[in-house]
Amino acid sequence: MPEVSPNPGAVRSRVSRLLVLLVVALIPILLCVALGRYEAERIAQREASLASAFIVGQVVSIVETAQSAARTFAPRANEACDTLSPDLTRKAAAVPYVRTLNILYEGRIDCSSAYSQQAVPDGGWLNGSAQASQDEWLLIVDDTPMVRNRPSLLVGVAGEAGRAVVAVVDVQYLLDLLHGAAPLTVFRQAELRVGEGAVLREAMALVNVRGAPLLVDVQKRMSGATIDLKIYGRPERILENWRALLLRYMPWAAAFSAWLVWLVRRLQQSGQSRREQLLRAIRANEFHVEYQPLYGVETGRCEGVEALLRWVRPGTGAIRPDEFIQVAEEEHVIVPLTQHLLKLIERDVATWEVAPGFHLGVNFAPEHLSGVQLVSDVQALRTAVAPHGATITLEITERTLVRNTEQARSNLVALRREGVRVAIDDFGMGYCSLSYLEKFPFDILKIDRGFVLTIDAQGSKAAVLDAIIDLAHSLGARLVAEGVETQVQRDYLCARGVTYIQGFFYARPMPSEAFVRWYRANGAHMSPNPHMTAGT
Ligand code: C2E
Ligand code: CA
Ligand code: CA
Repeated sequence: MPEVSPNPGAVRSRVSRLLVLLVVALIPILLCVALGRYEAERIAQREASLASAFIVGQVVSIVETAQSAARTFAPRANEACDTLSPDLTRKAAAVPYVRTLNILYEGRIDCSSAYSQQAVPDGGWLNGSAQASQDEWLLIVDDTPMVRNRPSLLVGVAGEAGRAVVAVVDVQYLLDLLHGAAPLTVFRQAELRVGEGAVLREAMALVNVRGAPLLVDVQKRMSGATIDLKIYGRPERILENWRALLLRYMPWAAAFSAWLVWLVRRLQQSGQSRREQLLRAIRANEFHVEYQPLYGVETGRCEGVEALLRWVRPGTGAIRPDEFIQVAEEEHVIVPLTQHLLKLIERDVATWEVAPGFHLGVNFAPEHLSGVQLVSDVQALRTAVAPHGATITLEITERTLVRNTEQARSNLVALRREGVRVAIDDFGMGYCSLSYLEKFPFDILKIDRGFVLTIDAQGSKAAVLDAIIDLAHSLGARLVAEGVETQVQRDYLCARGVTYIQGFFYARPMPSEAFVRWYRANGAHMSPNPHMTAGT
């Protein structure tokens, strides 16, 4: 019984199965976390952009109101203050937001809605930074002659004779606006810059915005200046939103993740159980081998057999070899299964006595072919069967890809040097392409039953089959025709120089004891299988 478990491949595949489960479990959870974070940030951005649209709209409206009031006096800026001052006073009282209207000349108040001409306080205003050169300007100053220690927004419009009309807007309006639309409970900070001068902040104490995400930064150009509004988010609030979203959606993500894990686990188990079933069947000795004779065309003798694996499951019955061999290949159990087969063959052949040079054909899968165990496995079989007259023929087919062609090649070269023959199986069919001829050394080509079936009832033509036979001859290879069932097929193939005939026409595969009896009776002179010929 071969060593089937545990092997490094099985451990690796268990680890990789666990890894797959872990990844599958994590995907919905991580997606939920990432999407939650993204959504929490989007909510904050949406709130900020709504607030900013409102604030900017209101600031524009306040500034335009003040500008329009100032513009009315631009043509009259040069008038005597006696007549102008009462009009300024009336206007300032009537226009919303505007505290005073002033005529500015060379950086000083020349005339004001708030003072009679004589009472205008002396001293620099605007600290000499009057924007006289510009037609219209906006400036936030920290204080005005009338209201100290409270910033004001100056809305300037150029007037007659180098003068300017300045509407003073109380900044409290803007601060209230910030406070109302972008409260500190929702945002870390809102910063408003209207034209030149100081930046207005919702919290007058400077708030550290480092680490706080900048949610909105809008600039609005208007006549004379730009309004710039920045709103920073509160990281704690984004976290809160994130937490709320996670609380809402995480149970769904967890459920989805559990479902996915269950699904993948089931898939893995069905794969695993197929593997387990095969390994268990090996341990339970449910396999046996049948041997199908090969008819030598020149000698008329039985010149070999092909060993074919059989699995009879208790309770289920026989399972088709092409089915379970494919599963064994997919589940990487083919090497231990073939090693088990070799042991069974050894045991069977121990009871045989065949003519020297007798071919014992054994099918090897690509995984075994390119593995490091092949040479020693075949050598062990060769040593065991040689005393009974048998020599080994490796039958190789391309059901799955040969991964390590170089290793496979060197295995075959080494084995051929020791007298093992190589047959290319299923030749010409889907499984086995011409590329095998290039890659591997070989002695025999086995023509697939599919081509034998193309021989028509009269035995007159089979073009592709003829081409394959010609190819084999020109390569110096011997030919086995498989699946020969009728006299016509046999005659056609013999006439074209095929070396061996294998098929129900001569004999079906049979268990070892049956073969031993059959060989004793028919080995030296093979005649058609009476059951077959009766039907044909
Ligand atoms: P294969 O290697 O091409 O084997 C020949 C198949 O043709 C066998 O089917 C055999 O029973 C069948 N056969 C022989 N003569 C006739 C005939 O005249 N008419 C018909 N209809 N069929 C005929 P089996 O035993 O069912 O095996 C099917 C395939 O399973 C094999 O095809 C081979 O690819 C795979 N297989 C069987 N045993 C083993 C094994 O021990 N190892 C590996 N790796 N593959 C095996
Ligand atoms: Ca075969
Ligand atoms: Ca075949």
